[in-house]
Amino acid sequence: MIAIGTAESLPVARQDATLARGAEPHMTTHYYPVPTGDGAALDGTQTVMVPLNRKALVAMPAERVRRLRKHLVESLRGERELKHPARSASPVRPEPEGFVGLVARTACTLCKGWCCKGGEEHAYLDERTMARVRRARPELDERAVLRLYSERVPPAAYQDSCVFHGPEGCTLDRALRSDLCNSYFCNGLGHFVKRADSAARVVVMAGGEEIRPSPVLTRSLERPTGLRV
Ligand code: SF4
Ligand code: SF4
Repeated sequence: MIAIGTAESLPVARQDATLARGAEPHMTTHYYPVPTGDGAALDGTQTVMVPLNRKALVAMPAERVRRLRKHLVESLRGERELKHPARSASPVRPEPEGFVGLVARTACTLCKGWCCKGGEEHAYLDERTMARVRRARPELDERAVLRLYSERVPPAAYQDSCVFHGPEGCTLDRALRSDLCNSYFCNGLGHFVKRADSAARVVVMAGGEEIRPSPVLTRSLERPTGLRV
């Protein structure tokens, strides 16, 4: 199968929901041999297949914010009841670096946060995330933590997705996100991350029937033409 696409169709910067930076439009047309097997194309370019969020943006109903606040109140109560809050606090995992980081940012930008659909109004936040935030920001009382999260809710979010999934991606900093959000890779991306050492050229393909390809990402450049990362 050959995928033909213009990177002009790339989403605007910060469309990804799990990573902070994104891609800019790029006008060149690309022709890619797409494998049907394990991701290794004939010309040595590895393809990374990821899903594509096709949902529309919709205005944020007040009811969703109310449910988020309820969940946060319960999580803060859970944090108070932890026997060893400092020990239980979830870590802030760093964003992947180097070539893996470049591929991951590109993939999540193209995909527009398909995996965030499970976030609903809880965003995977729990007492361990609250323990981390309370320790990092001791000047904030519980009301202030509630306000901090509530103010991050975007005016519009992707339909049926996480309450923080706005038009430019996740509105939470890594320090405020759940450990799950900071560490999750979907199958295609996770498969690439495990074998990244052997990849020199990568094209990310987002979608199913209609594929959106990225420009060719190379390890030597780590900054592909047309991408700002
Ligand atoms: S981890 Fe996978 S599904 Fe989630 S945003 Fe990134 S590419 Fe999309
Ligand atoms: S908080 Fe929500 S939008 Fe942000 S990464 Fe997690 S699931 Fe996605």
